[in-house]
Amino acid sequence: MIADISSIKNSEGKITVNETVEFGTVTFGGGAYEFKEVSVVGSIINIGGSLELKATATGEYITPCARCLKPVMSSFDADIYEDLTGEDANDELIAKDGNEWDLTELILSDILLELPMTVLCSEDCKGFCPTCGKNLNSESCTCESEEWDPRFDILKNFKADL
Ligand SMILES: [Zn+2]
Ligand SMILES: [Zn+2]
Repeated sequence: MIADISSIKNSEGKITVNETVEFGTVTFGGGAYEFKEVSVVGSIINIGGSLELKATATGEYITPCARCLKPVMSSFDADIYEDLTGEDANDELIAKDGNEWDLTELILSDILLELPMTVLCSEDCKGFCPTCGKNLNSESCTCESEEWDPRFDILKNFKADL
């Protein structure tokens, strides 16, 4: 999302933001998120010389179920509030090219922080059998472990991190 800040760069004022942003597929924290169109609505304001972005980003994304890997569509609604010029400004996330500032990365980073760490296709998704690997939502097996034990999840993640 490119914002032309020329009208408020050197004087107090406000620009309205109402855009559709394409992020495509993003990998973050070991997960993959396939974003559908994301709508960003808000404004960029010059208050006393500092530029602030205040917006709401809404959209949908598809990510695999944490237990059975089936793709799950979820929606999000993220508040974005960023000081674009202050000491804490994330300069590496804002591509500043004269008066045209690309805020795509900055907005995406705020959205990713709002997404849940784990998405499940359903609360009682049975996932895969840790012994034989069958998807227990559609198949049954004769392995010993009758009940899902969340400790298997932890062990699996622990191994994946090594
Ligand atoms: Zn599932
Ligand atoms: Zn099994």
